[in-house]
Amino acid sequence: MTVVLLPPVTSAPGRFLADMEPLTEGPRFVRTRSMSRWHRPRSGVRLTDRDRTVYDAWCGYGIGGSDRAGTFLVADEPPDGEPVCATCEGRAAGAGQDDSPTGRLLVFTPRWIAPPQNCPASRSSLFEELPGGRVGRCLACGDMQPLRAMGGPYNPRYAIVQHPTGQGLVDPCPFHRWRQLTARDGHAVCDCGRELAS
Ligand SMILES: [Zn+2]
Ligand SMILES: [Zn+2]
Ligand SMILES: [Zn+2]
Repeated sequence: MTVVLLPPVTSAPGRFLADMEPLTEGPRFVRTRSMSRWHRPRSGVRLTDRDRTVYDAWCGYGIGGSDRAGTFLVADEPPDGEPVCATCEGRAAGAGQDDSPTGRLLVFTPRWIAPPQNCPASRSSLFEELPGGRVGRCLACGDMQPLRAMGGPYNPRYAIVQHPTGQGLVDPCPFHRWRQLTARDGHAVCDCGRELAS
């Protein structure tokens, strides 16, 4: 039995690894041999060239290792008497990954998964300046928005104002969603190097 995993938004910062693939499904429970309790994976990546899988648990732990060497264990249901991480159990159910262990309606809303209400380019230099210099076209969502001087007197810069996410928001990075947008050649790309279709 597998569960649906979220994109590994917070788990793969920094540089993009060419052989890293996000996993869309994973086991219900996972732990390394040395861990005292079972955790639940929130996201996972597979390092295809290196025979490794790494899951990020709802509580923040990273769990994984070599697929063949069996450095981590997976389970549909932990064996009787073996403890389960309460943070993982609650968050997984609250986010809708699995049934509530209490029967109550649990709610947990992971950040950065749904398109954000405010455009991720708000207050940034992710804009293309339009003639006149007062309005810019947002590189993330395509909307026209005013430009404002921000930063201090010694470090002035122009930024596009905070604005609601427009209809033309670029597709999310499969790893980082819209969390690490940056400008390259007049387009919004993810800081990890991935191109984002608009
Ligand atoms: Zn946990
Ligand atoms: Zn925008
Ligand atoms: Zn990325």
